[in-house]
Amino acid sequence: MSNSLVLVLNAGSSSLKFALMDAQTGAAMLSGLGECFGLEDARISWKRDGQDKQELMFEQGGNHHEKAVELIVELVESMNVNDQLVAIGHRVVHGGEKFAQATLLNDSVVNDIDALSDLAPLHNPANVMGIRAAMKAFPALPQVAVFDTAFHQTMPQKAFTGAICNELYKEYGIRRYGFHGTSHYYVSREAAKMVNKPIEETSFISVHLGNGASVSAIRNGESVDTSMGFTPLAGLMMGTRSGDLDPGIIEFLMKKGWTHEQVFDTLNKKSGFLGVSGLTSDARGILEAMESGHEGAKLAFEVFTYRVAKFIGSYMIPLDSLDAVIFTGGIGENSLPIRREILKNLKLLGFVEDVAGNEAARFGNAGVIGASEMLGAQVLVIPTNEEFVIASQSAEFAK
Ligand code: ADP
Repeated sequence: MSNSLVLVLNAGSSSLKFALMDAQTGAAMLSGLGECFGLEDARISWKRDGQDKQELMFEQGGNHHEKAVELIVELVESMNVNDQLVAIGHRVVHGGEKFAQATLLNDSVVNDIDALSDLAPLHNPANVMGIRAAMKAFPALPQVAVFDTAFHQTMPQKAFTGAICNELYKEYGIRRYGFHGTSHYYVSREAAKMVNKPIEETSFISVHLGNGASVSAIRNGESVDTSMGFTPLAGLMMGTRSGDLDPGIIEFLMKKGWTHEQVFDTLNKKSGFLGVSGLTSDARGILEAMESGHEGAKLAFEVFTYRVAKFIGSYMIPLDSLDAVIFTGGIGENSLPIRREILKNLKLLGFVEDVAGNEAARFGNAGVIGASEMLGAQVLVIPTNEEFVIASQSAEFAK
């Protein structure tokens, strides 16, 4: 029996993902998802080890984050593991420049996270709500914040500085922060094991492709550049986000009478796969529609894969050598045709697909899916596990 269980909470604006996890092995005894908070069909579902999935609809009104945490407390209590629970780990999206590592939460740190809401208005207030609910429910346990931005705080100034008036950085903190740090951290550590080198001697390009997507150049285990920026809107094309675009388009649309809400709603929620295909934000849906000859889906596939390849190419710049390109995230872990097309786009850099490897590395299986002899680099698929990182970093505070 384990002595170090951590409850991992990941609160979004209308959702709460959770897992009760062994901080040493990563085995989850309980995991679940609350979603549609604040809406008519607010609900929570969970699965206990070895049991069927269960679901509960929430009544309207009240604070669904708090209700979800109350239910999680009941679930944990019913499992009789309270004596093994050593910490609560919270995923927090934005830690600004203040938080470069996992941090023990107290009222003052929670206030600091709240104050960073300016930089992440959709995410940090939800994270704070989750933290406050959990502090109320588990007052005796250490509560730890693990930040999405923290891993990227090692970026050199030339990588995080925008080519804009420096006053904007001084006045408002406008710079590249980067996100998905926990995922890039995890897969780079796993990749070091796969290439059989100490992490301090490795060079990787980590490519996280999920609904959100980002690339990170990681040298000697540290992030030296990443494609998300001041907000998660920057960089790659995503499920519904545009990624990088000409800022002149914003002015053009506003001159046409669009409000700034309309512009940013379009760039955040109606662009990417959804916008280009006119069909869906979901990569699986894009691939299926493409099979049946949908032109928009085909274009979305081409734009997406072309852009990912361009980013991979440009992320060689901060590195002196390359041990591996790592694919992760829902698309990176599963989508064989998307990985294949990205590698085709990288042919000038010598990348060649290992067809059998690409076919085998899916649905939770890691593997080698290609290589560039010219660069001495492998192409790896590694399923990410952000919860495990949060659990193990949080457990450190329990010692
Ligand atoms: P999030 O960023 O919300 O955590 P995920 O990492 O789960 O998202 O990634 C979701 C994306 O992964 C969706 O576009 C989904 O279609 C895609 N995906 C999941 N499984 C497959 C698959 N078998 N083939 C292609 N794409 C997949």
